[in-house]
Amino acid sequence: MKMYNYELKPLGSGEEHICYKAYTLNNFRDLPQMELLSDEAKFAMEVVANVFPFKTNSYVVDELIDWNNFQNDPIFALTFPQREMLKPQHFDHMAAALVGGASSDDIRKTANRIRAELNPHPAGQMESNIPELNGERLNGLQHKYNQTVLFFPVRGQTCHAYCSFCFRWPQFVGIDELRFAMRETEQLIEYIRIHPEVTDVLITGGDPMVMKTKRLSAYVDALLESNLDNLTTIRIGTKALSFWPYRFLTDNDSDELLALFKKVVDSGKHLAIMAHFSHPRELETNAAKEAIARILKTGAQIRTQSPLLSHINDSADVWADMWNRQVALGCIPYYMFVARNTGAHQYFSVPLVKAHSIYKEAMKKVSGIARTARGPIMSSNPGKIQVLGTNKDASEEVLALQFLQARNPDWISQPFFAKYDDKALWIDELKPAFGADQFFFQNKNEK
Ligand SMILES: *Cc1c(COP(=O)(O)O)cnc(C)c1O
Ligand code: SF4
Repeated sequence: MKMYNYELKPLGSGEEHICYKAYTLNNFRDLPQMELLSDEAKFAMEVVANVFPFKTNSYVVDELIDWNNFQNDPIFALTFPQREMLKPQHFDHMAAALVGGASSDDIRKTANRIRAELNPHPAGQMESNIPELNGERLNGLQHKYNQTVLFFPVRGQTCHAYCSFCFRWPQFVGIDELRFAMRETEQLIEYIRIHPEVTDVLITGGDPMVMKTKRLSAYVDALLESNLDNLTTIRIGTKALSFWPYRFLTDNDSDELLALFKKVVDSGKHLAIMAHFSHPRELETNAAKEAIARILKTGAQIRTQSPLLSHINDSADVWADMWNRQVALGCIPYYMFVARNTGAHQYFSVPLVKAHSIYKEAMKKVSGIARTARGPIMSSNPGKIQVLGTNKDASEEVLALQFLQARNPDWISQPFFAKYDDKALWIDELKPAFGADQFFFQNKNEK
């Protein structure tokens, strides 16, 4: 495996299967590339990193970012904090605390005051959709859409690097509790057994691929051994193909990981790796290409998804290029999301009308094989809402929308209409068209 830059160099500190160096607020100034930045720019990074989570790693820094043009580099914007991610008043507030030599306690309080103003709990994800078994809440699970149960293993709730736009940011800065996994998989299995409508388990995080294979296989083996006839598909959500493809190549348990994938496939279940890619650059390294090939060789499939983000991938050419590369490598494009209305979304958000036009233009540039990508989609409290397009022919200019997933399955694939608004960023900024006082899925008692 000479083509890889990484030799297996155990790090220690409990992550002994992983061999990259991580960079955070505490040590990012040690990166030699930081010499390219002015002191002011480094200070701005520190200000923002005191509010939002920040972690990158040596693979991202050495193989993905083009430091000759880092100011415009999409992967730099993807993992390094950017000054404009904070509103000016919030930036000044934190900058003053740091310059004034505030205690770490005061800095944390300042950070938490700012965070509280950034809609840390959009879509009520924390409280709702937590299922119960025999009257007990199963905190490591979420069951919102009939067919699919989300499973949050306790040791998979971090990532190899953090996306600067991450909607799980409150978890990574410690203002949300981690979703504690159940004691073992027993309750998950029991839950699926008594819910015959469930066909899919989606193991998610964070990134479950930060777990050692041994831990992951404890969950997966239990699922396989329980002979759940209704369970046809195991999905694993991950950004590891982008942030640490060596997870599938050179980590000291990579071969066991691939053997686990093969075991799932050989058992007759569908294994879908739900891979998060934000930019075609992430698909260009030898490591990423080889990791994809090794996963596909096990018989698993790779489906891809990402939010559409200003400063990172807000162009039709970028999406068409990304989907074409994914298809060429054997992946299946799946979802294009709209950036959620939380955290630094004012920096990353693309208006819904523009998002749809990027989707439409990108679709025009790819063959039908890549048009499996559906979008743009808002993952909102009532469900996954797709923007279908705009229409001026009716008596009123409208945006057409539909649910791809919904709390109430009757809402799925039912077109509905909002007044045309080329500034709206999210469903709650849209107004119903044709004189209606609410959308069909709303009742008077809820927003
Ligand atoms: C997106 C999502 C799923 C999976 O939906 P699919 O359309 O089947 O990919 C499941 N649960 C929740 C809460 C989701 O947001
Ligand atoms: S990989 Fe997902 S959970 Fe992890 S930082 Fe990125 S968006 Fe957040």
